[in-house]
Amino acid sequence: MTMKSVFVSELDDQVEALLEHYERATRSKTDARIYGELAAECRELARAAAAEDYRTAGVHIESIRRISMDGLSMEDAWLIPVSRIEKLLRVLIVDARCPYCKGYLRSATARQCPECLRDWHDADNVRFLG
Ligand SMILES: [Zn+2]
Repeated sequence: MTMKSVFVSELDDQVEALLEHYERATRSKTDARIYGELAAECRELARAAAAEDYRTAGVHIESIRRISMDGLSMEDAWLIPVSRIEKLLRVLIVDARCPYCKGYLRSATARQCPECLRDWHDADNVRFLG
């Protein structure tokens, strides 16, 4: 098992924990709606992590945090899996940064940056996209 697959399976466990937590926290109609949104985001997050698309995973964790902020009667316990997932994502994407602007790349092997739009497939001829 590689370091990366250990983190991905840990990430899966945390997403599961998050879903279980929200299930328990569902007490009102508002919570039920929020739970639905969060569950959808969690599934997308798990899918992105499985595909090793940590940039998309990061977008979903941001949505989870934002939706949770409006979480009304939810307990603070949701913060635990969310912050664990954020930590895992940070570990996973540490090698997927643009060498020019340090923005997040789509993968560790990407040779173009969605932030600064540089393309370094040919290291001797760095171009700008778009
Ligand atoms: Zn960049």
